[in-house]
Amino acid sequence: MMRRFLLELRQSPWLTFVSIGMADGEYYAGSRPPRGEDRGLRMLHARQADGLAMHIYRVDDANRRGSLIWRGERPFDARTRPWFRSAVTAGSMGWYPVYRYAIDDDNGAYASLGIGMAAPLHDPQGRFIGVATADVALVQLAEFLRELLAGSEGVAFIAESSGELLATSLDVPIHRFDGPRIVRFRAEESAQPLIRAAGAALARTDTPEGRLSLQVDGRPHVLDWRSHALPLGPTLTLAVLLPESRFAAPVGDMLRDSVALLLTALLASLLVVLLATDWLARPLAALSRWAGRLAAGDWQATAPRRGPVREVAALIDALDDMAGHLKRQTVELEQRVAARTAELEEANRLLAALSLTDGLTGLGNRRRFDAALEIEWSRAARLHQPLAILMLDADLFKQYNDRYGHQAGDACLCAIARCLAVTARRASDLAVRYGGEEFAIIAPDTDPASARQLADSIRLAVAALDLPHPDSPHARVTVSIGVASLRPAPEHAPGDLLQQADAALYRAKQRGRNCVEA
Ligand code: GH3
Ligand code: MG
Ligand code: MG
Repeated sequence: MMRRFLLELRQSPWLTFVSIGMADGEYYAGSRPPRGEDRGLRMLHARQADGLAMHIYRVDDANRRGSLIWRGERPFDARTRPWFRSAVTAGSMGWYPVYRYAIDDDNGAYASLGIGMAAPLHDPQGRFIGVATADVALVQLAEFLRELLAGSEGVAFIAESSGELLATSLDVPIHRFDGPRIVRFRAEESAQPLIRAAGAALARTDTPEGRLSLQVDGRPHVLDWRSHALPLGPTLTLAVLLPESRFAAPVGDMLRDSVALLLTALLASLLVVLLATDWLARPLAALSRWAGRLAAGDWQATAPRRGPVREVAALIDALDDMAGHLKRQTVELEQRVAARTAELEEANRLLAALSLTDGLTGLGNRRRFDAALEIEWSRAARLHQPLAILMLDADLFKQYNDRYGHQAGDACLCAIARCLAVTARRASDLAVRYGGEEFAIIAPDTDPASARQLADSIRLAVAALDLPHPDSPHARVTVSIGVASLRPAPEHAPGDLLQQADAALYRAKQRGRNCVEA
């Protein structure tokens, strides 16, 4: 920040201070001392850490801080300064009235009055940060006028619309101190006859610019003046009074124009510094807020208005464009994610089904059987219905595998499974592969007789497949079936039913296989 202040000062040779006073009273400034021999740039600060003691440092050509020139004894609290107060009171950028510098260094480099512009600064959340100011010393203005009028026997001065002098090209006082109060002199009350005469003439006219002849001390003079209303500030009048003998119209015009030009340049530089902080900082803050909302995914956030700063407007356009792209991409991405999610849900449903299905035969598996048994058991208990279970086991299947190989064994298991599915075809019947070459059927609302019938028809259906099995006494692939059916009572558990069916199956095997036991 200090570097920027110093750069501004190098750009604007008439500026005395570019500074900032912080909300906690700290002060940072770049400065060109308006008085004395050494006019090299300075860096000033009064920090809380130093008890707000003013420090003045030299600055090298690279705008780096050099040696300490002076350290103030009393605290310098920026909040008490007129420019700070004026900006806080106004709440917006503007000119502040003439005031006296508070820096009383040993060389008197700042023994002057000053005037300038100040602007309150706020962070993006709208909190007050401090006040920025650009200031010009009145002695600096006077020096400028003096150089301009050198050797002309005339006088130039700048006055406010009240007539109060800001600067003159002659070394005459423009104010006195009444205690801490500044008593400013108006041109018409000046001790200097030329200024007094010109001031009186200006007080009588209300034309903003003009030229007239004046007798001063019996000598003809020409007075030329021009008023300039400063944006957001006072109206200043620049007056030039020259002896008529020295006055040649072209010279006068040139003088007037060059003075006006330089004055305008001076004022413009003040404005530029402050507008830079305001016009640039404000749209940038809005831009930054907007970018923050976009970054948080708030696509509804509308772009800030395009301000007067072309570069910022270009940034807004670029970001708007980018936000548009991002928005489209995000919407597309969201749609794709939604589609994928649906696919994933479908896949999950399939996976859940698969986890209940036997991979070889496509029948339900043991897990399916256990779950269904629980449900059907409770339903049968509730409805007082009989529930039947059939346990099937392929006969002498080990030998079948041994003779025909495992693949043929698998195909045989699939054929048996199809028989089950076709035969136990009531919607409520559930056929599963219980494991290995064993199958099971849950048949709700089925009494022992019906269960046995069902088992018989399955046994016959498998035998009817007529799959050769030379190692079996039945010479073909057969199954043994154990059947159990009961009405669930409080003293029963599903395991009882299972156990009975298992025991029946065992008996069927004992009896010579290819038969049903209940
Ligand atoms: P039993 O009539 O007493 O039931 O005689 P078994 O040979 O069928 O009975 P055991 O329990 O001795 O052998 C079962 C055989 O079933 C052993 C195994 O090779 C076969 N097996 C089990 N699961 C599969 C399978 O998924 N595919 C094939 N091909 N064979 C299987
Ligand atoms: Mg077995
Ligand atoms: Mg077997």
